[in-house]
Amino acid sequence: ITGLNGMLNTLVKAASAAQRVFEIIDLQPDIPSEEGHLGVSGEGPCSLAFEGVRFFYPMRPDTMVLDGLDFSVGAGQTVAMVGRSGAGKSTLVGLMLRFYDPKGGRVLLNGTPLTEYNLRLYRQKVGVVSQDTQVFCRSILENLTYGLEPGEAKMADIERAAKAASCHEFIQELEEGYQSMIGEGGTRLSGGQRQRVAIARALLRKPKLLLLDEATSALAPGHGSVKRARTREDAENEGRVQEALDDLVHSVHGSCSVVLIAHRLSTVMGADKIVVLDRGRMVEQGTHEELLKNNQIYAGLVQRQLARDAKAEGAEGAEGAE
Ligand code: ATP
Repeated sequence: ITGLNGMLNTLVKAASAAQRVFEIIDLQPDIPSEEGHLGVSGEGPCSLAFEGVRFFYPMRPDTMVLDGLDFSVGAGQTVAMVGRSGAGKSTLVGLMLRFYDPKGGRVLLNGTPLTEYNLRLYRQKVGVVSQDTQVFCRSILENLTYGLEPGEAKMADIERAAKAASCHEFIQELEEGYQSMIGEGGTRLSGGQRQRVAIARALLRKPKLLLLDEATSALAPGHGSVKRARTREDAENEGRVQEALDDLVHSVHGSCSVVLIAHRLSTVMGADKIVVLDRGRMVEQGTHEELLKNNQIYAGLVQRQLARDAKAEGAEGAEGAE
């Protein structure tokens, strides 16, 4: 009787969990993926423009996150977005991917409002490496080719993308190479490895627009639930992802437009244009040299970063001496 009682309890819990799963499966996206009729035509990279974009999150209608934001990304340009934490950088990536639509103003792709494009076709042309890199509990190969039609990517293309993203080497070291299962029940990838897989996945789609959102943040100490001190391995991993990112931006330059959101100055410095955001508005734009000369917000951010780097180097030096 006690055993039956235990089973009954388990069944009741499983039934309510299953109900929640079905509720989530039944959810309808705010923006249907088949809405809009235009495809993204032409071979070349896309231009993108935000015109007076205003946005607040539905849960916080009293807080304007983007407040008349204007900026543009020319076809083939690399534009870096910088600004203090909470300035609205990740939010504008959400708008570019149409997780949300603006409450005012327009987002234009090649001069046409984004809302006129078919969402599914548009997203096929956009590569994303985001803060929360997802890997699925499938093989590395399936993770890399996720979203592509079967057979669309040849093995040579896949390996080329993996090499460009500096992940071919560690994949080959896995027992079953590209067929190795990853995620829960398979090989657990480090934050750096996950992001390199995400870079390769983005490259493989030959995107017309590439969105890189703070791609090194998963390597920062204390990210996620476990707070811990930064180790030499973290630094090496971060260096390799940074190199892969720099190579990525360099290799796609001109053939793909890039919007880059990064805390690291080294990545930002090489951009064709840097846009400085503050409280949801564009407050400065120009090249690294121009903005330094202006001596406004960007110059302040650079000085603070240099001071932080010098402090970190000092601490590392002292640790080494011990
Ligand atoms: P960080 O550099 O720290 O990542 P950010 O510049 O990317 O910051 P956002 O993440 O875009 O800034 O956040 C801008 C503002 O919107 C913040 O005030 C934040 O609290 C708020 N915000 C972000 N996501 C949501 C959400 N899902 N619901 C409600 N408010 C949100």
